[in-house]
Amino acid sequence: MANNSAAGIQWDLSDLFAAHDDSKIESTLNDCRASAERFAERYRPALEHGQSLSAATLKQALEELEKIYEALGRVSSYAGLLYAADTAKPEYQDLDQRVEQRSTEIRNLLLFFELAWLKFDDEIADKLIKDEQLRDYRHYLTSLRRYRRHTLSELEEKLLNERDNTGRNAFGRLFSEITSSLVFKLERDGKSEDLNLSQILSLLHEPDRSLRQRAMETVYRELSQHGQVLTFIYDTLIQDNLTVDRLRSYSNPMAQRHLSNEIDGAAVKTMMEVSEKNYPLAHDYFRLKAKLLELPQLALYDQYAPVGKEVRPFPYENAKLVVLNAFAAFDPKFGELAGEFFAKNWIDAEIRKGKRGGAFCASPSPQLHPYVLCNYDDNLRDVMTVAHELGHGLHGCLSRKQNYFNYDTPLTTAETASVFAEMLVFDYLLEQQSDRDVRIALLTGKIEDIFATVFRQNVLTRFEELAFAARQEKRLTPDAMGKLWLEANGKYYGDAVTMPDSYQWGWSYIPHFIHSRFYCYSYVFGQLLVLALYRMYKDEGKTFVPKYVALLEAGGSDTPDALLKPLGVDIHHAEFWQKGFEEIRGLVGKLQGLI
Ligand SMILES: [Zn+2]
Repeated sequence: MANNSAAGIQWDLSDLFAAHDDSKIESTLNDCRASAERFAERYRPALEHGQSLSAATLKQALEELEKIYEALGRVSSYAGLLYAADTAKPEYQDLDQRVEQRSTEIRNLLLFFELAWLKFDDEIADKLIKDEQLRDYRHYLTSLRRYRRHTLSELEEKLLNERDNTGRNAFGRLFSEITSSLVFKLERDGKSEDLNLSQILSLLHEPDRSLRQRAMETVYRELSQHGQVLTFIYDTLIQDNLTVDRLRSYSNPMAQRHLSNEIDGAAVKTMMEVSEKNYPLAHDYFRLKAKLLELPQLALYDQYAPVGKEVRPFPYENAKLVVLNAFAAFDPKFGELAGEFFAKNWIDAEIRKGKRGGAFCASPSPQLHPYVLCNYDDNLRDVMTVAHELGHGLHGCLSRKQNYFNYDTPLTTAETASVFAEMLVFDYLLEQQSDRDVRIALLTGKIEDIFATVFRQNVLTRFEELAFAARQEKRLTPDAMGKLWLEANGKYYGDAVTMPDSYQWGWSYIPHFIHSRFYCYSYVFGQLLVLALYRMYKDEGKTFVPKYVALLEAGGSDTPDALLKPLGVDIHHAEFWQKGFEEIRGLVGKLQGLI
């Protein structure tokens, strides 16, 4: 901790409250509670008898609701941030729990609003949505109703919810318990080590080839020991999803995910087809990597082997400079906004005992500025983390023009600003480096990151599609599941990477399949969208900048499709998605030039 260059970099939360025992916290909670009670009293009758509700009254209700959520957000953000900064401090633990409990009570008082709105007849709801007075709330009111056709009666919903605890949720818990208790025994330097899943997977990034190979073999051998149960769990959950889809009238297994992402399934289909067409680009890269490693062909366990030379320790001050310069070169306003985060102490970067691990950016509401937390450890990837979180931060600042309900973006576009910011900083760093080996390390690292989010997540989604289709015919055995997995992966790796037979267990530890089906395509969507936008920026130059700024300013005020239209983006067009791959091809080309 002593040598860390970010020592002393702590955030200043006094814009929210003075201290954890500030009496304003309690009084804000009391005010919120009283306002919520008044709100329910005033609006419940009008909403539950929808016929007579006027646009003016609905607008007034939404404005009051916003005020309560804003105030509540200030308290919960403060409690959450204090706790993240020092999870071991009992006063902070208490505050966080107390605020969570109180705000749940308050939110429960307000819940009737959304439920009642969902029950409005289409005709009456449409008339209100189209009313000019409700213009700013149009997207929120519309998107709330998107599950209407798929919602069952209150009693049925209640039954499903309660039965889920001993049904699908129980299978999910069983999966988590099995995968988190796995112990992988590995011989290393004459000693036997007990590793958990993430520890052993990280060995795939080691320079020693035989260690990587043994690590991979150990992973799949251990997983195969639990193969029967893991297959049973996944098979049961697929069947459960198919049943619920039938009850809720979803037309296909992905439909529910598309709805929550506010994306048309046809656009996703096009995106996935374009990704598949570009698998040969991955093959080109795998052959280059084999050359770098001086191997005739890449094996699966060579995929993440390190090459080139890591950039020397990267002090925090340097990271700040790099990020601010890279942002300012894109748009001076970006540089200024990011500069505020450093100047006004909105970042907590030092590594401290008791502080939460990882990194995040919290953007509480349009009334408040965002805060960034990271654990800066002087590595290049920490620079990228700062860039990533500050990208979120800029998005959070720019969209403060929006109202509370239009502030957040759906999953598919939530990572646009952060990943775009990483691209800016990556390119800036690459240009600064003259050492060939450092450039090779930077490029391979970036390309492999992109492959993991674009190609691999596409493979994962294809596998899910195959598994759902096969389950409609019959129950899935471990063998059948393994075959489908190898089929989906075989298309990606082609003849460029050899897959060991034991890789048939590669699907069995991936939590997304169990907890949130068809989640993975959102990663493809988010990453490719950014690459394509970045390509447009390079092609169009400065004229692209104001359009991109406008996109961030729009926050979540409309569907991703509608927000992207003004940039000339059509997510239904294969050509748009192909732009993303042209950007990847550019990176692979740069690497080729160095070898
Ligand atoms: Zn992020």
